[in-house]
Amino acid sequence: MGAILDALDRLQKIERDLSRQRAKQAAYRRMIAKCQARIDTNQVEYDAHLDAVRRCQMGIDEADLDIKSREESMAKHRLALNAAKTNKDYAAILTALNTEKADTSKYESKVLELMAQKDELLGQSEVFEENNRKLRKRLEKSENELADFLDRTRGELELLEKAREDAAIEIAPSALSSFERVAKKHDGEAMAEVIRLGSRGDEHICDGCNMSVTLEVVNRLRSVDELVLCHTCGRILYLSTEPAPS
Ligand SMILES: [Zn+2]
Repeated sequence: MGAILDALDRLQKIERDLSRQRAKQAAYRRMIAKCQARIDTNQVEYDAHLDAVRRCQMGIDEADLDIKSREESMAKHRLALNAAKTNKDYAAILTALNTEKADTSKYESKVLELMAQKDELLGQSEVFEENNRKLRKRLEKSENELADFLDRTRGELELLEKAREDAAIEIAPSALSSFERVAKKHDGEAMAEVIRLGSRGDEHICDGCNMSVTLEVVNRLRSVDELVLCHTCGRILYLSTEPAPS
């Protein structure tokens, strides 16, 4: 390996450790986001549930008002019944009274039905609240785990970042920017070894993507110290301590 690839290889080892740290951090953050999303969903469902409770109560209030106005009207009709002068008047008032009685009993059944519905809904509220408590506990646990992880790895991360800075100083800006671009695309794995296959040893593949690498590329890697990218995955290729062909 020439000096450029050698320096990039040192950078790669540091970059790999940094990537591992970042991936772990990201996993903790994903868990936190997942917990928060579940809390939000539970809250939306709970709000809809509370809305249903409110609608029940409104139905009960409305039916209560109807019952009250029917009762007032029935009281008036009872007085009128006593004061009726003709049979015809009496019969008409009695019919009205009976209709009101039937309506009242209909509204009373409705109130009972809505009250039962409301009781059932209120019973379910506890489930939402219990869920919320559990989910919040889980969120707190995940947040603590992330904070612990950050605390535990802060020193190591600082050392890695410093080492990365030092390693980067030795690399030409154009090579460094190529490295960074490829590393970003492949989760920190910017470099790939060229592996020799076959009994005759004239077949080569990129260890990053397992696709074949031409002999021309291999010869370039043997003869010049420069960046050669895999045609398929774009990783920076290098030859390991392959014995020189005799
Ligand atoms: Zn490749």
